[in-house]
Amino acid sequence: MKYPLSNIQLTALERQYVNEALQANWISGSAGSPFLARFESLLEQRHKRMYALAVANGTVALELALRTLDIGLGDYVIVPALTFAAPVAAVLNVGAKPLIVDIDPDTWTISPEAVADLVGSTSWYGRIKAVIAVDLLGHPCDFGRLYEAAQREGIPIIEDAAQAHGATYYKNPTGTFGDISTFSYHANKAITTGEGGSFLTNKRELYDRAKRLMNHGMTPGRPYYHEEPGTNYRMTNVTAAIGTAQMERWIELMAKRSQVAKWYGQVLPSWMQPRPVAEWCTPGMWLYTVTVDPTIRADLLNNLQAQGIDVRAIWPAIPDNPAFAAFEMDRCTVARAIAARAIWLPTSATMTYDDCQTIAEAFRQVEAVL
Ligand SMILES: *Cc1c(COP(=O)(O)O)cnc(C)c1O
Repeated sequence: MKYPLSNIQLTALERQYVNEALQANWISGSAGSPFLARFESLLEQRHKRMYALAVANGTVALELALRTLDIGLGDYVIVPALTFAAPVAAVLNVGAKPLIVDIDPDTWTISPEAVADLVGSTSWYGRIKAVIAVDLLGHPCDFGRLYEAAQREGIPIIEDAAQAHGATYYKNPTGTFGDISTFSYHANKAITTGEGGSFLTNKRELYDRAKRLMNHGMTPGRPYYHEEPGTNYRMTNVTAAIGTAQMERWIELMAKRSQVAKWYGQVLPSWMQPRPVAEWCTPGMWLYTVTVDPTIRADLLNNLQAQGIDVRAIWPAIPDNPAFAAFEMDRCTVARAIAARAIWLPTSATMTYDDCQTIAEAFRQVEAVL
């Protein structure tokens, strides 16, 4: 593809740190890994959290969050109907069941009313053990109202911020909200380590337990003594070397992505509507997302794709996947309406104004003959 949907941008800094890790002969993620310690401390500073743990990917970060909260067989977790499917799969992977609720049309994030309805219903009383709040496509959830809906009943919130590096909710950065926040550093995310994820919290007891669970259930400082059954979700020191460089380049990488979003805003035709943004937030730029007339969407995408421009339809609504259909709680009409209209445009730190204009022009020409 001439214009890939996303593109990574690595520099001499990533290469230098990876070389340092290799030269130190330190390629695992064992306790004391120097780049893991640096990466985690950068995460704590950036996201204003007491504790961070780097893990193998964003999906196991969510599984770790659920397991740390003791969620498993017989438990239920509320998830939004529009998202990449990892949070829904994570719930099933730990043995719990997802309760899929609709999203809010103004933010495209989980509907606080839908959460309040489920949490308040007598039939679910005592069985809902968490809410996974996904900051969808760079937009933070409506945390004030979510806290009111969930935390009044003592139900913890897990913030899945995988798509929202650099966003703020009333000036507080994503990664700060809920009992636990998670990130992904997959190659298509705004900060990347190829594969990678993180777990953040302010609660010492959650951090201690997560650190033990992700490291075979062994008590730190006491090798081969297993306090409880655990697993291995560790990130390697080499991966953390890339992450350290990316976190040190945070301001540059975020600025480049927001610049691309501004350019798109200037050059795209008015029939392409940018996704809505609530006035209480600054979105983080992941993939630039617009809605188009659903009756021409497939033709638009096919035409642009044939020209080497990797524009894509967003995910179908979660309950429209055979794997998750059984867990739809109400009619997720907002999620379906958006899933039918929304598309992603190529977005990466490497793009120029001319790239945005070329893409906008291609849309104009194709739409004119449809
Ligand atoms: C990418 C993503 C994940 C999973 O991340 P991986 O690192 O690919 O496992 C989880 N949640 C959301 C919302 C994502 O977009």
